[in-house]
Amino acid sequence: MTEFTALSRRGALRLGAAVLTIAAAPKVWAQAAAPAAPTGPFSLPKRSYEANALEPHIDAQTMDIHYNRHHAAYVAALNNAAKDNGVIAKASLADLLADLGQLPDNLRTVVRNNGGGHANHSMFWEVMGPGAGGAPGGDLAAAITRDLGGFDKFKADFEAAGLRVFGSGWVFVTVDRGGRLAVLPRPNQDSPLMEKQLVLFGNDVWEHAYYLKYQNRRADYLKSWWNVVDWSKIGARYAAAKAGTLAI
Ligand code: MN
Repeated sequence: MTEFTALSRRGALRLGAAVLTIAAAPKVWAQAAAPAAPTGPFSLPKRSYEANALEPHIDAQTMDIHYNRHHAAYVAALNNAAKDNGVIAKASLADLLADLGQLPDNLRTVVRNNGGGHANHSMFWEVMGPGAGGAPGGDLAAAITRDLGGFDKFKADFEAAGLRVFGSGWVFVTVDRGGRLAVLPRPNQDSPLMEKQLVLFGNDVWEHAYYLKYQNRRADYLKSWWNVVDWSKIGARYAAAKAGTLAI
């Protein structure tokens, strides 16, 4: 058993215990539901840059709508589900996604779509920045050469994988505790976290991520996106993955 599998198993146990706790809770729970939209336990992460900071590669209006409406809607839906279902509030987002199968049927799709959306977008804002681009360095660069055939081949394969996503979805790079990398496209708001894998980074290929500026030209968006990828942030995530501290 890998260390990561063992961690996930502990997560499953915690989640299972939380489900039992909630199931045993008195009915007063349902009566406590407030009419106002809940503001927690999940929240939009702060971005370290302004909406216009990634111009001209990602326009300010797209960034504004993407963050303040799309991502905010996933957070609101997740908080709304948590309002009546304490199991969602008690577990970490990473544990919830790793153990979707532990959730009751009526919550599983809500958490899959909105918890996945919250995790994916939180990662997305983190790995971009102004004055970014260039190439990775250090052991991340070495891993890209070792596992993905070198930086240029990796970028071409990543763009091709993003283009092949039919409809809405993401293209990710996963990393395991040994630092091994793989390109993994996923539909909708699905995340490799749902398969007990770690996400190093990824690009959003939903039309809402690029349509205002690029219209149907997803290939141009995928190519331009490298200009806003912050390899220092991704290098930090790579180190965290190997140290066992990377969550979402
Ligand atoms: Mn999006």
